Amino acid sequence: LGPTVCVGEILVEIVATTVGDGFLEAQPLVGPFASGAPAIFISQCGRLGGKAAMVGAVGDDDFGRVNTDRLKRDGVDVSAISIDADYPTGSAFVRYRADGSRDFVYNIATSAAARFGWSQTVGDLIDRSGHLHVMGSALSVPSAREVIEKAVDIVRARGGTLSVDPNIRRELKLDEDTERRFSKLVAAADLLLPTGEELERAAGVEGEAEAIRRLFEMGVKEIVLKRGVNGATYFGRQGDRIDAPAFVVQEVDPTGAGDCFGGAYLTCRRLGMSQKQALTYASAAGARNVMVLGPMEGAGTRQELDAFIASTERRR
Ligand code: ATP
Repeated sequence: LGPTVCVGEILVEIVATTVGDGFLEAQPLVGPFASGAPAIFISQCGRLGGKAAMVGAVGDDDFGRVNTDRLKRDGVDVSAISIDADYPTGSAFVRYRADGSRDFVYNIATSAAARFGWSQTVGDLIDRSGHLHVMGSALSVPSAREVIEKAVDIVRARGGTLSVDPNIRRELKLDEDTERRFSKLVAAADLLLPTGEELERAAGVEGEAEAIRRLFEMGVKEIVLKRGVNGATYFGRQGDRIDAPAFVVQEVDPTGAGDCFGGAYLTCRRLGMSQKQALTYASAAGARNVMVLGPMEGAGTRQELDAFIASTERRR
């Protein structure tokens, strides 16, 4: 089996340690932490012992090295992460408000993350990959879109599989062309990993049952719905369904839960586990990651997740 390849943005995240509104005043910060949703996903794949590789770009700077060093330590092949000599690594500053919502300052549009393209190295990696994971939201970045669509076509033509995290908020309006590309990407997914809001957005209809029905009609093969503290649910095309309650933990930083969850689910399935077993590891990976500050600092190894599962209660 070829590696799981993830395509998308690589960032560092810097987190305010006090709760409040925005960044208009000087305040204590922690980081830089390796970040970017696709990078978090692939980090979790690597930590669990799956063959994993990342496609994206960083600048020739310390923020870039924070990411490539981290992914290498996780066992991820970083040879197709290009180093942009002209643009810096993307970054995001995050501060939590008292109600749990977040204020961001992004430096992405003018960073290496928004500029990576197809290359011989990327092509060689995609040619030997077994599975591709992408974010629907990346389709609105022209350079990422080109790489993703080409990679999807190649991987599917050679019998590889595709997972898609829609990562698109309900109210986000895409232009007609991007909307069409988004629907096409969703329809091609062997595994779709949405939240409730993204499920309806991807299906274009309201109501969970109706959205699930519509997505299967579009061509999606399996859906794993992420419900935060309310757990997760697997839906199969034959009407089969498995509910996985969340683990009971103290949430410190929710960022990255969905990506750790997805990376763990996919990796466990690719390692031959049942949907139920994969859901348990995925729920553990998501829960463990919210217990610590930093978007992927809680991503666990197989041993760490086994210990977590053995010692942590699940919600009823
Ligand atoms: P994010 O965008 O923050 O990365 P998401 O919205 O894509 O995450 P969530 O549903 O928040 O995805 O989290 C994915 C999974 O992780 C959940 O289905 C659940 O199993 C687990 N999880 C998330 N938050 C918690 C929590 N506070 N306690 C326990 N488990 C959690």
